[in-house]
Amino acid sequence: MPAEEGIKPRAVPSPAQMINAARAAASFTAGRLLKRPIVLGSPVMLMVEPTTACQLRCPHCPTGRGELSRPTGRMTLERFKTIWDSIRPAPILLQLWNQGEPFVNRETPEIITHAARSGAQVKLSTNVELLARGDLAERIVRAGLAELILSLDGTSAEAYNTYRVGGDFDHVREGIERVVAARQKLGVRHPLLTWQFLLFKHTLEEIPEARRLARQWGVDHVVFKTAQLEDLSREEGETWLPDDPALRRYDLKGDRWVLRRSDRYFCNRIFASAVVQWDGTVVPCCFDKDGRYVVGNAADDGFPAVWTGEAFQRFRRDWIEGRRPEMCDNCTEGLARLYSSPKGL
Ligand code: SF4
Repeated sequence: MPAEEGIKPRAVPSPAQMINAARAAASFTAGRLLKRPIVLGSPVMLMVEPTTACQLRCPHCPTGRGELSRPTGRMTLERFKTIWDSIRPAPILLQLWNQGEPFVNRETPEIITHAARSGAQVKLSTNVELLARGDLAERIVRAGLAELILSLDGTSAEAYNTYRVGGDFDHVREGIERVVAARQKLGVRHPLLTWQFLLFKHTLEEIPEARRLARQWGVDHVVFKTAQLEDLSREEGETWLPDDPALRRYDLKGDRWVLRRSDRYFCNRIFASAVVQWDGTVVPCCFDKDGRYVVGNAADDGFPAVWTGEAFQRFRRDWIEGRRPEMCDNCTEGLARLYSSPKGL
């Protein structure tokens, strides 16, 4: 691709990244078999939080509910570079989101550029609204973003606003159209556009229209994801979850909704990835939304020291030995039904 068209995302991992992935696989196999936290490589995937700020108020999101206890802030490009450049080889995948809306951070396109240049694939999940702003859509295409996950539940303003409280469906449509137009203008196929549609009771009847709209707008595919609840009370689940068990990840047991998964699942994630919050704080996974299980600070100590440090190893050892935090009860690791393909809808 000519330089003025921007960066092209890496299609396949480098040999060094492949070797590191093999080491990560050996780590969780060893952890499972030997019941010890053995870490043989650096992370294959890193999740980095651009910001905790968001313009919406989604009811099952701690940020949207105003319940996140951490301060609001953003990852600066400088801090990102310090952290990212300390990890070699570069992770195969950067997931550029956590709590908050990534595009609230105005340096997000530059962060994508830096990671893509290092050879990582960069994926970003957004509520889309802000993509209609200025030349943002074209900047993320030029930056080399590999995949853009469009978090959009519903095809009418009414259904959309039931969960995406405070959003504007027209801005969403315009944002998607601008990314599609930028891809066409630059003659590229990235980012892959993935419409992530959460399966709520109130969104089911709009599934056929979502499939039609995706084709009309030029979105590459639609995935239907079972919804996660923050509040697992009977009443909350009955309000939001579809009646069809095939379209949800929980079963009602007594007065609580309980995840449907094997008790024998193993957490591979803590041997292959980590989450860096906006201020450099490292937590084991994205389910630690409030930062209760901090294992270090990558901006202060360097990521490699945190990755193999005592606090992270203790967390892994505790997990293997069955001392698991409550957040593991509502996590997607080992989950049988993360995505669903609604039949007859
Ligand atoms: S919530 Fe628990 S099981 Fe899930 S990824 Fe985090 S540490 Fe692993």
